Amino acid sequence: MKNSNTVIPTRTTAEWQALDNASFLHPFTKHSDIREEGGRIIERAEDVYIYTNDGDKILDSMSGLWCCNLGFSTPEIADAVHQQLTHLPFYNNFFQCAHTAAIEAASRLVDVAPDHINNVFFAGSGSEANDTNIRLVRRYWDSQGKTDKRYIIARENAYHGSSIASASLGGMSFMHDQFHTLPNVAHVLQPYQFGEGQLGESEEDFGRRAAQSVEDKIIELGADNVAAMIGEPIMGAGGVRIPPSNYWKLVEAICNKHDVLLIADEVITGFGRTGKMFASDYFDIKPDLITFAKAATNGYQQLGGVLVSEKVSKVLMADEAEFAHGYTFNGHPAACAAAIKTLDIFERDNILQRVRDDIGPYFAERFATLGDHPLIGEVRTIGMLGAIEVVKDKQTNERFHKDVNAGSIVKESVTRNGLIMRAVGDTLISAPQLTINKQQVDELVDKALKGLDETAEILSKNHSGE
Ligand code: PMP
Repeated sequence: MKNSNTVIPTRTTAEWQALDNASFLHPFTKHSDIREEGGRIIERAEDVYIYTNDGDKILDSMSGLWCCNLGFSTPEIADAVHQQLTHLPFYNNFFQCAHTAAIEAASRLVDVAPDHINNVFFAGSGSEANDTNIRLVRRYWDSQGKTDKRYIIARENAYHGSSIASASLGGMSFMHDQFHTLPNVAHVLQPYQFGEGQLGESEEDFGRRAAQSVEDKIIELGADNVAAMIGEPIMGAGGVRIPPSNYWKLVEAICNKHDVLLIADEVITGFGRTGKMFASDYFDIKPDLITFAKAATNGYQQLGGVLVSEKVSKVLMADEAEFAHGYTFNGHPAACAAAIKTLDIFERDNILQRVRDDIGPYFAERFATLGDHPLIGEVRTIGMLGAIEVVKDKQTNERFHKDVNAGSIVKESVTRNGLIMRAVGDTLISAPQLTINKQQVDELVDKALKGLDETAEILSKNHSGE
């Protein structure tokens, strides 16, 4: 069923692709490829499926871009946005003003955040929120006279956004190669045992070693020069890398010991992904600042921000200077209305409990079966996040040569079978909607398996030179 109730005209796919090529520079896209091959043109979405302009139905196991945790069909959120726009379409929150939508959204977010959080600073995206974090930690230390505390410790392969500042916090070298990163950021070992673990090293030992790399860096730089440590509780864009279970408590203790603020970037792990509203609660840590975005509005509006602990907000509230930072769309009324309605639905539909007791365990059980495939060296899941590692040799976990692009071949093969997964090198990842049903999880796993079988065929043909 086509939605005729939209301002977007109807065109053939070839026409859309031509218009796309003529007018649209895409994010994270190799433009020579899209120009040559044409983009996949998405026309609409419903439930957990996206539909191309040609009517192909694809199960989107990435929830848009880790955004639509409640699926694509939540008309209540659309209605809330519409109502808000007809009531107060826009006003700012600068200069001692506040509108009711932002106040209500802030208060509701504080309610669902970990207990020690008592304030929110809004932004329009995760990148903006992490830029805000840099400002917040600087002000926190500067206003207490600790002006040398400038360094932020982050992890290799982390993703914290794509503004210059947030991408500098990120640890993706292919991004750094295209711009000059900010100074005062130091990267340490990522807690990714499949890639970084040593032979025979236990999960606990690896967790200790990865946490120790944080402390080693603090000592190397001098604790008086280190403002904060930032990390995604579970690395998302870097490949759904789930840390050893001892890692976060150790990192938290190290930060406390050296008087370094801890920032949890929960842009992906927030809003129910692990079965807790925030993964900080899952790992039982109390970060000083928590970044959120994406699923805060179920992806219906652009909203990000920082959840601020009492410890930090107390210092900022006592600051004599004006906090010299803000975005025009900080707490946009429509985005705030979407966030409020999203939280209503989480509560009404017991989404967290569903992830913890029902669909999460089912997803884990079914997704684990992918590990039987000859191409898969490891399967990881946590809540509604999953990853599979593509390997050449299942016994030794030897990888394919990078020129083989095995991960991309799997991604293309599963897409041909009607499933969106994302390839991060030779890791394939999945972050389905928290509202997905069991039949749809079966469909996801079946399609992934078909894609893996086709990949095996393609690789063996390529290998035999056919
Ligand atoms: N932090 C994390 C952990 C993310 O995954 C992302 C986006 N994938 C961001 C920050 C940046 O968010 P945005 O794209 O909304 O700027």
